[in-house]
Amino acid sequence: MKFFKADLHIHTCLSPCAELDMSPKAVVGKSLERGLDIIAICDHNSAENVEASIRAATRCDLRVLPGMEINSIEEVHSLAIFESVEKVYLMQSMVYEHLKGTNRAELFGDQVVANEWDEVEGFNDRLLIGAVDLKLSDIIREVHRLGGLSIASHVDRPSFSVPSQLGFIPPDLEVDALEISRPDKWEAGKQQIPGIERFSVVSFSDAHFISDVGRISTRFLMESPDFDEIRMALLGESGRKVEGLIA
Ligand SMILES: [Zn+2]
Ligand SMILES: [Zn+2]
Repeated sequence: MKFFKADLHIHTCLSPCAELDMSPKAVVGKSLERGLDIIAICDHNSAENVEASIRAATRCDLRVLPGMEINSIEEVHSLAIFESVEKVYLMQSMVYEHLKGTNRAELFGDQVVANEWDEVEGFNDRLLIGAVDLKLSDIIREVHRLGGLSIASHVDRPSFSVPSQLGFIPPDLEVDALEISRPDKWEAGKQQIPGIERFSVVSFSDAHFISDVGRISTRFLMESPDFDEIRMALLGESGRKVEGLIA
């Protein structure tokens, strides 16, 4: 087995709060520059730049996983990562069914759907910055039904996280891992989050700016940079494991 460097929480120009320079091609280029082996594209409530990102990495030494960052009715962010584009689109259909409103680009930012050659294909006009009218527990259940991985986003942040919105980590929370945004402050801060001991902890960049891609990542011990290997590492199966957080 080998060590692989993963950043499984990267936004693109489809997220209204991400910079427009974050095209699929630019994200792939920066990921290679940063020595990442595996990334996941996780835009807010949408997966419409996932395919272009996968195509932009064709013939590159980089694995791109399909994902989304879903905002629940409690305003909790969680990552949903899948093994295939088909699965992420099934999840996206459910999210779109439960996401109301229209984006106001002048307020929230443009939501650019791009292709792998840095060309604009169109604009998504849904309110991607909004919350879906689904509970976090329902989102997690659906992600798992589709065979995906559910990771609670930035649990060390004072907003849009499980502790900030629910007040604590529910004993029946069924996510596959918790993501922290500041691995350098983690040792000092983790006592403040009771209940974290039973989860794998990972750390990713949550990049909204191209310069942040891969700035924070997680090293996994696995056979190969693939979805199933990540799953086994998060669950600590067959010798796979989360080896460390890189800041
Ligand atoms: Zn988030
Ligand atoms: Zn994010």
